[in-house]
Amino acid sequence: MSDTLQDKPDRAAWIKGAAGCNIEPAIPVRVWRLVLLGAPGVGKGTQAQLLTQALGACHLSTGDVFRNAKTCGPREQSPPMRAAMESMSKGQLVSDDTVLGIVRERVKCLACGCGFLLDGFPRTVAQAEALAKVLDEKSIALDAVLDYQLPIDEIVSRLGGRRTCAGCKAVYHIISRPPALSGVCDVCGHELVQREDDRPQSIRVRMEAYHRSTLPLTEFYRARGLLLTIDAHGSAEQVLVRALKQLPAVATA
Ligand code: AMP
Repeated sequence: MSDTLQDKPDRAAWIKGAAGCNIEPAIPVRVWRLVLLGAPGVGKGTQAQLLTQALGACHLSTGDVFRNAKTCGPREQSPPMRAAMESMSKGQLVSDDTVLGIVRERVKCLACGCGFLLDGFPRTVAQAEALAKVLDEKSIALDAVLDYQLPIDEIVSRLGGRRTCAGCKAVYHIISRPPALSGVCDVCGHELVQREDDRPQSIRVRMEAYHRSTLPLTEFYRARGLLLTIDAHGSAEQVLVRALKQLPAVATA
């Protein structure tokens, strides 16, 4: 992998909604444009980080945009952003209009020459249709949609034990990936917190929202020949290998 690609995952342009990072690969490389699907807790965020390192594409998470907005003062938050954060803290989906407005503001990240890994977007068929339109306007095609699958009991256990660093956002699990010192980030020493939407009541609501709105997406993408189903059991590295094996050009690299 070139240094340029290793340096590429600068998500500030996406998270803050700036004008795009304008980085192009220094040498011709296979550019990947992928959507990651899967219920909350299936490990999409971790897989996105690993895929970013493996493929050089930028990890674009709509959840990260909303979480970042939460850290801004009320004056910096637009009314739609405030409504989005209220939905999020209850574990509900943010309205399609708000999400699409946020994605359209960041369209340069979708057109980026290094590709992208969309995580948490689209989440409804209406969002998928809008994404298809935006990409079509830019003459960009999706390469594949990776659908990570895990039984619900395992998902609930994974989410309930998840802890995130309040500083650098590194992710831990109280049983399967504990920090060296309980409640403290190994990387930067900040406190580890439980995401508001990982609390039991929110988990239940999020799973219901997922089943109602997101499962039809798999049919949407299956019908377009883009869906690749990935078994999300096992370690993050095992899951990564399974996904890469399904992306033909990478499997032989
Ligand atoms: P995530 O980090 O992807 O699990 O997203 C966290 C929360 O942000 C979700 O539970 C929703 O409240 C909100 N959110 C993120 N992306 C979307 C989206 N594409 N559509 C609706 N709500 C979203």
